[in-house]
Amino acid sequence: EELYGVNNWGRDYFTISETGELIINPFTEEKGGVSLIDIIQGVEDRGFDMPVLLRFENILDEQISYLNNAFNNAIESLEYKGSYRGVYPIKVNQQQQVVHEIAKFGQRYHHGFEVGSKAELIAVMTEMKDKEANIICNGYKDSEFIDLGLYAIKMGYNLFFVIEMPGEVELILDRGKLLGVQPNIGVRIKLSTKAGGHWTESGGDRSIFGLNMSQVIEILDYLKEKGMLSCLKLMHYHLGSQIPNIRDIRVAVLEAARVYAELVKEGAPMGYLDLGGGLAVDYDGSNTNFTSSRNYNVDEYCIDVIEAVMSVMDNDDIDHPIIITESGRAIVAYYSVLVFNVLDVTKFEQYDIPEELPEETPENIKNLFEVYKNVSVKNLQESYNDALYYRDLIKDMFNHSNISLRERALSEKIYWDLIYRVSGELHKLKFIPPELIDLDDALADIYYCNFSLFQSIPDSWAIDQLFPIVPIHRLNEEPTRNAVIADITCDCDGEINKFIDLHDVKKTLPLHELRTSEDYYIGTFLVGAYQETLGDLHNLFGDTNVVSIRLDGKGSYEFINEIQGDTVEDVLSYVEYNTKDLRASFRENAETAVKAGLITAKERKSIMESFEAGLRGYTYYER
Ligand code: PLP
Repeated sequence: EELYGVNNWGRDYFTISETGELIINPFTEEKGGVSLIDIIQGVEDRGFDMPVLLRFENILDEQISYLNNAFNNAIESLEYKGSYRGVYPIKVNQQQQVVHEIAKFGQRYHHGFEVGSKAELIAVMTEMKDKEANIICNGYKDSEFIDLGLYAIKMGYNLFFVIEMPGEVELILDRGKLLGVQPNIGVRIKLSTKAGGHWTESGGDRSIFGLNMSQVIEILDYLKEKGMLSCLKLMHYHLGSQIPNIRDIRVAVLEAARVYAELVKEGAPMGYLDLGGGLAVDYDGSNTNFTSSRNYNVDEYCIDVIEAVMSVMDNDDIDHPIIITESGRAIVAYYSVLVFNVLDVTKFEQYDIPEELPEETPENIKNLFEVYKNVSVKNLQESYNDALYYRDLIKDMFNHSNISLRERALSEKIYWDLIYRVSGELHKLKFIPPELIDLDDALADIYYCNFSLFQSIPDSWAIDQLFPIVPIHRLNEEPTRNAVIADITCDCDGEINKFIDLHDVKKTLPLHELRTSEDYYIGTFLVGAYQETLGDLHNLFGDTNVVSIRLDGKGSYEFINEIQGDTVEDVLSYVEYNTKDLRASFRENAETAVKAGLITAKERKSIMESFEAGLRGYTYYER
C-alpha cells in the first residue's frame, strides 16, 4: 500500500487485501469490498476485452453526499444563515450515464448542473427532474440557447443565465419579453486574484472569461434603465480547476464576496453567490500544493468558503447568500478506473555476452568490451564516461559502413550490460556522482500496455497530469522491475514516465515480472474527470468498453450497464469513411487480384471474411 500510496490518494475507497488484490470499498464495513481483479475476470468472462473503463456508481453517490454534507456541516457549525446548492459542471464528464446518475443521487441535496452550451443544456433538461435544483448557464449564448433556457424557466426549472459578455443582456431581455418569461440573470466576474496550478489563466485580470468591474457596472446601469434590475440574482466567478493552495481559494472568495455585497448595495436582489469549480483532487496523495495535489481537504475547503463569505456579509450587513459551487473534478474523479493488460516488455540488461570476442572484432568494440569487463566500484564514473565515448564512436563507424549490423548489435548488448553493472554498484558509493543518479531510470523496462494514452488519459500527455497507476493483483509479491509504460498508439508521446510520489515525481513505476501464460493487469485510477470527453481518436483507437458496477455493501456486485467500445467500423465512420463504400472498393480490389490470378475466388471469400471481422473488431489488441 505504501509503495503505490493507495492509502494516501484512495480516500479509503481503495485498499489492498492480504492476497495482494486491489479492493474497492466505498462502505465503512470491511466486508463490503470487492476485488478489482475479480471484476475484471467477470468482465472478460462476458466477452469484453481490455482495456475497460469501470465506473462505480456507489462512489459517485458517496462523493455527492460527501461534498453536500461537508458544506452543510460547515453551515451548521458556523451558524451561516444561507444554504448550499451545488451544481455539477457537465463538461467534466457528460456521458449520459454519468449525468443520469448525478441527477438521481443529487436529488436529495437538490444538486443541480452547470452547462456551457446548447447541447449540454439539452442533456441536462432531459436527465434532471428536480425543479428545486439549479441550472447555471455559462458560456456564450445565442438566441436558440436563450430560448431553450427561457422555456426551462417556464417549465419550472431554477435556471440562471450567467452573462459572460455585456452584449448578451439585451438579447436575453428581448427574448424573455417575446416569450413572456422573466429571466434570472447572473454576472460572471473577473477577479484580480490568480491561483497557482495548471489552469491559472482562468482567473486574474487577463482571464479571457467574465466581466471586468466597469462592464459589471455597465450591465447594472442597463438593467436599471430597463427597469429589470429585479432579474439580477446571481454572481459567479471561476478561478480555475484543480487549485492546489487553499490560500488562493480564500483570497478569491473574499474578493468575490465584496463584489457581491456591492451588487446588493446597488439594489440588485441577488441571493446566489456562485464560486465556480476548483476544488482539487489529491491525485498523488501528498496533501501538498503540488499541481497534482491540494494542501487542504474537502471539510477545510467548505469551512474556509463559508467563513470567508460570512465575514464579508456580516461586515457589510448583507443577508447570507445561497452558496453555489461548480465542483466537477472532486465529484467524478474517483468514480472511474481504467484497467488494461500488459502485452509485452522490453528490458535493457543482462544480455548473453560472450566470454571473449572474436579476433576480427573491430577495435572500438573490443575497447568497449574491456571497459565492461573491468567495471568496479572504484571506477564507476570513468566506466560510464568510456561507455558513452565508445558507443558514439561505434555509431559513427556504423554510419560510415565500417561495422556490420551484427557487430553494432553486439556492441549495444555490451553497452547496456555495462550500464547495468555500473548501476548495480552505485549503492556502494557514499556519494553518487550527479550524472549517475538517474542511471536506474535509463535502465527501466518498457511495459507495452493495451490502451491509448490519448483516448483514455489525455491529460497525462497534454499537461503532464499525474494519475495513480497500480497493478490490481500480485500486490503481496515484491515488484522486482522498474518500468515506464508505453501505450499501443506507436506515437513516441504515448509513454507514461512520470508517476506519483509523496515528495517528488517518480520517473519509473515498480511492477512485477510477467509470467508466461498469465495476464498482468494494471489500473489507472481517478480518471473520472475530464478524461473521457477530452480523449481523442489518435491512431484510430476508439472509446474503450465501459462497465458500470453497483456494489451491494456485502461483498457482491452487479453489472448495471455495459457499453461496447468503438469498433473499427465506428472509428472509420468518425473520420468520414463510408463503410458501405469501403466494402465495395475492398471487394473490387480483391476481384482485381482474382482476375490477375494472384488469389483464387475461394481465397477472395476468406479475405472478405477477415475484412469483415476486422471492421467489426474492437480497436484495441484482441486476444
Ligand atoms: N465551472 C467552470 C465555469 C469551469 O470552467 C470549470 C472547469 O474548469 C468548472 C466549473 C469545473 O472545475 P473543477 O472540475 O475544478 O471543479
